[in-house]
Amino acid sequence: MNALDKMISLGAGYSAQGGFAQSVTDIFGALGLSLDARRGSDLKVFSPVDGSELAALRTDRAGDMDAMVANARAAFATWKDVPAPHRGELVRRYGLLVREHKEALSHLLTIENGKILTEARGEVQEVIDICEYAVGLSRQLFGLTIASERAEHRLTEYWHPLGVLGLISAFNFPAAVWAWGTTVALVCGDSAIWKPSEKTPLTALAFAGLLQKAAADYDLAPDDLVQIAIGDAACGTTLADHPDVAIVSATGSVRMGQDVGVRVQRRFGRPVLELGGNNAAIVAPSADIGLALRGTIFAATGTCGQRCTTLRRLIVHDDIRADFVKRLIAAVGSLNIGSPLDDATHVGPLIDKAAFDAMQRALEQARRDGGIVHGGDRIEVAGPDAYYVRPAIVEMPAQSEIVREETFAPILYVLSYRDFAEAIALQNGVPQGLSSCVFTSDVREAEKFQSAQGSDCGIVNVNIGTSGAEIGGAFGGEKVTGGGRVSGSDSWKNYMRRVTATVNYSTSLPLAQGVKFDLDLD
Ligand code: NAD
Repeated sequence: MNALDKMISLGAGYSAQGGFAQSVTDIFGALGLSLDARRGSDLKVFSPVDGSELAALRTDRAGDMDAMVANARAAFATWKDVPAPHRGELVRRYGLLVREHKEALSHLLTIENGKILTEARGEVQEVIDICEYAVGLSRQLFGLTIASERAEHRLTEYWHPLGVLGLISAFNFPAAVWAWGTTVALVCGDSAIWKPSEKTPLTALAFAGLLQKAAADYDLAPDDLVQIAIGDAACGTTLADHPDVAIVSATGSVRMGQDVGVRVQRRFGRPVLELGGNNAAIVAPSADIGLALRGTIFAATGTCGQRCTTLRRLIVHDDIRADFVKRLIAAVGSLNIGSPLDDATHVGPLIDKAAFDAMQRALEQARRDGGIVHGGDRIEVAGPDAYYVRPAIVEMPAQSEIVREETFAPILYVLSYRDFAEAIALQNGVPQGLSSCVFTSDVREAEKFQSAQGSDCGIVNVNIGTSGAEIGGAFGGEKVTGGGRVSGSDSWKNYMRRVTATVNYSTSLPLAQGVKFDLDLD
């Protein structure tokens, strides 16, 4: 039995000393990659599944980063001249590689990040899907023809590659967010450097390694088209400050975005910010209650509450509140909390102790604010270094400060309302603006919620929870969520520069707005 099969068969509670470290090595081997050149002593990587050490890595220093940016500039100079559909061919080949290795990549993602296997498979599928999306896009990078006010003039807009993409990503989607940005940037003609979370560098090395392999086998791809920088926030700062990094796409906390956004803006680079959310669901009296319950539970507890789109606030009508909350508490109480490698598990571990401590601090504050806490306690699954919790449902008397904050853990605050306008005001009454939803069968409420009088978020759903967006639509949010859209819809324009071109095919030189500037040159 190989290490991967052994890992699958061990299932819940697996914590054999060193088991996952060997699994990581074996998975890299199965991918045709090796960690050997990366091993070192700067950064220890732990599995949230059992708290064991997975690997120790060498990190990149400021000097390494400068060389990487110079190499990325050189790669860009070649790649931007490759026709876009041929750039798409590289992404097509990469998508096939990820598809071939979906199972191994999903296991690596689960043991390093802790999300349950079905969600890890979903994330890998998202990488495959975005590759296919980007390949199609490589033949669709179209501009506009605009009616000119001048006779015999043609006014157009079109798009050129922009430069080097620096992509900073968070631990909770350790592969998909990178793929959203990088595959699209590649077909747009950019080169890319990835600075993944220091909590999930192994998943990053695997996904980037496969893309580097695809590039090495593709004669049109220059060296160093895609690079990876392993390290902490300082590596991210280098990308944010570097004048030769044209676009900085940063996904993570609001605090990180406030720093990165200002640094990039100061040098007039292009920031794309995908930051924290504090997402709400309104449950109206006309809602299909079974559907609302299922949608609420998955959105609140999936990925152990560690999605940017996790449902954090439930705003339920007074008339149905008591019954809805009772059923919710019972359902959350019956969820299987355990090893994310076990197919029967609904909720895996938190990423680390810091996440657990932040959750407990938030629950204590909620109690001080008059909240009634159900669940939220630690569950012993795989020893003292793994942090498993029962998701918490907290009945709150009001939307106090702690409710207005994003705590990156499975806490669902319950509020109530009488009037729909009051529900919308509560939904919008937080600094974040990522995802929102309403469960209702009343078409007026559904439409109002989506209108300019309704939710102020970037994602507005009806009869669907707040998480689990599809890749086709633009993904991102407003207010302190940062305003960026990494992928989907026309987000590809973030990775290109716009040219407005006017061609005069007449024999005169009329000026716009009727300006006269007559010269007698004879
Ligand atoms: P984090 O902000 O701690 O780290 C994210 C990344 O930024 C890491 O790679 C980190 O090393 C880097 N970083 C941190 N500070 C930096 C700085 N000052 N300069 C440059 N780089 C810096 O976030 P996290 O704990 O990994 O992830 C959780 C957060 O990410 C949550 O707030 C979540 O809502 C958010 N998130 C948002 C989205 C979205 O699309 N809106 C998606 C996923 C996660």
